Amino acid sequence: MGKPIEKPAAAGGTPARESKIYYGHQYIDEADVQAVVDVLRHHDLTCGPKIKELEDKLCRLTGAKYAVVCSNGTAALHMSCLAAGVGEGDEVITTPITFAASANCALYCGARPVFADIDPETYNIDPKKVAEAVTARTKAVVAVDYTGQSAALDPIREICKARGLTLIEDGAHVIGTKYKGRYNGSVSDMTTFSFHPVKTVTGGEGGAVLTNDEALYRKLLLYRAHGITRDASLMEHEPDGPWYYEQVDLGFNYRMTDIQAALIISQLDKLPMFSRRRKEIVSRYDEAFGKLPQLSVQKEIPESDTTRHLYILRIVPEKLTIDRRQFFDALAAENVCCNVHYIPTYYFPYYEKLGYHRGLCPNAEKLYEEIISLPLYYAMTDEDVESVIEAVTKIAVYYAKE
Ligand SMILES: *Cc1c(COP(=O)(O)O)cnc(C)c1O
Repeated sequence: MGKPIEKPAAAGGTPARESKIYYGHQYIDEADVQAVVDVLRHHDLTCGPKIKELEDKLCRLTGAKYAVVCSNGTAALHMSCLAAGVGEGDEVITTPITFAASANCALYCGARPVFADIDPETYNIDPKKVAEAVTARTKAVVAVDYTGQSAALDPIREICKARGLTLIEDGAHVIGTKYKGRYNGSVSDMTTFSFHPVKTVTGGEGGAVLTNDEALYRKLLLYRAHGITRDASLMEHEPDGPWYYEQVDLGFNYRMTDIQAALIISQLDKLPMFSRRRKEIVSRYDEAFGKLPQLSVQKEIPESDTTRHLYILRIVPEKLTIDRRQFFDALAAENVCCNVHYIPTYYFPYYEKLGYHRGLCPNAEKLYEEIISLPLYYAMTDEDVESVIEAVTKIAVYYAKE
């Protein structure tokens, strides 16, 4: 096409950018700082008014009836499994392309995670594979909204309804996304959020469970705080006095502090802005990479109006002379520092020792060989975005197979 092919830094060319760019970074403004300082100066540090305020805000945002905020997204998943009644001998179906917590939550309850393969184009758990994985022992499905794109919730919900299973949506990536016009958080039996700093909205650490079901909500409240209640209607004995409380179940200390809640409340005010910017960056990436046969773009289902938490670059190995590792290293040489999400959960030695083995989910395993998570966060400038595109394009074109 006339234009000379540019040399990547890995092949002796000049890097696309001088300074390093990372795959994710939080955005904290002065309002966030003030919100935290205000708690430190004037409010309870924990069990104070910011907890309810955040829960109300999450309900308004998503349309869910109830929200229970907690210490992190993993605690949210654990409490959800407990509320679903997951226990010894049960099975919980989930995807292997996720953070370990999506399956660990089943192990915490003495249950066995069962991995169902992904759809090779959307990368989310495949409802057909979920249906095939259901047994008499299955209690729940943990559907992950991988990268922020909603899982195929309606087909999964139908399977759950038909088989009496609880649908837990691991929405650690999904805040800001809508499924069929409804915000994720109001669709599944329970949806969990994470407010870890790489996620779209952060509290340093933090999590939440959203539900429309009052009975689940009551259980979640108990699991968050040791199984202890001050509600006389839940007690077995007559209260001894105003100090009296009862432990009626075995729960945990999974509370969130008011410091975290205040930060998350303030961050949520910026969600529309975060969402808009993430969508802009994703469409720039999609547009640039969609033109290159060496790369494959994640398919978006029409039901999901997606605020992407991760941008997954997928290489087409047949069209390249280099593999994913070499592509990743070549990007690092351009000062584009990436990551990989995720190593299939059952590859980990802990899971191997539990009897899981490679070959369980071929689509997930193939995906893992071909993916790189590119920088995606609110504070990226247009220049940052263009230099990432330049680096990726340079590498894809230079190492293209004839
Ligand atoms: C981050 C994450 C979690 C865990 O959230 P924490 O708040 O870090 O405990 C769970 N599932 C997925 C898919 C995640 O990305």
